[in-house]
Amino acid sequence: MNVIIFGPPGAGKGTQALNIVKKFKLFQISTGDLLRKEIKNKTEIGKRIEKTISKGAFATDEIVNELIKKVVFNQSKKNKLIFDGYPRSISQAKNLDILLSESHQKIDFIFFLNVHKEIIIKRIEKRKILEKRADDDLKTILKRYDTYMETTKPVLDYYSKNSNFYEIDGNLKIVEISSKIEQILTV
Ligand code: AMP
Repeated sequence: MNVIIFGPPGAGKGTQALNIVKKFKLFQISTGDLLRKEIKNKTEIGKRIEKTISKGAFATDEIVNELIKKVVFNQSKKNKLIFDGYPRSISQAKNLDILLSESHQKIDFIFFLNVHKEIIIKRIEKRKILEKRADDDLKTILKRYDTYMETTKPVLDYYSKNSNFYEIDGNLKIVEISSKIEQILTV
C-alpha cells in the first residue's frame, strides 16, 4: 500500500510516518529530509535551496518533483511508500498522480493531521531544542505556517473528496494519533 500523510509543520507527520514505517514495513519519503540531505552534502540543488528553506519558504516544485521521481520509480520501494511532506502544492499533487500512474501504483490512504496553530508553535519550539533545525525559530515557524496555509490548503481540498481521505485530530497525544491511524490501516 502507498500512503500520504500531510498537515501543517509541527503536526507530527514525521513521527507518525516513522511509526507506520515500523509497523507496516513501508519506506518513508520525506521531501524535507531529502532537501536537508542535499544541503548537507552541498550538492548543486543543496546550494540553490539552502537560503530558501532556512527562511521557511518552499523549494520549487521542479526540484522537489525531481527528487520524488527517483523514489517512485525505485522498484524495491514500489507500493511501500509513505509520503511525508509531499505533495505540498496542487502542482506537486498532479505530478504525483502522473508518476504513480506511469509506475502502475496508486495511493491507498491519505491522512490529514489537523492541528491548532498554538499547539504547533509549542511543538516546534520543543523540536528546536531537541533537533536544532535551522528553520525552527518562531518567525520562521509562523512563515512556514502561513506558506502552508496558502500553498498546501488547496491540496487538502484536492484530496478531501476522495473516499480514502481521513482527517485525524492532530491535537491528540502521539500514541492516540498513532492508534487512530493504525486502526484505519488494518481494516
Ligand atoms: P519538513 O521537514 O517537511 O517540515 O520540510 C522542511 C522544509 O523543506 C519546508 O519548510 C520547505 O521549505 C521544504 N520542503 C519540504 N517538502 C517540500 C515540498 N514538498 N515542496 C517544497 N518545499 C518543501
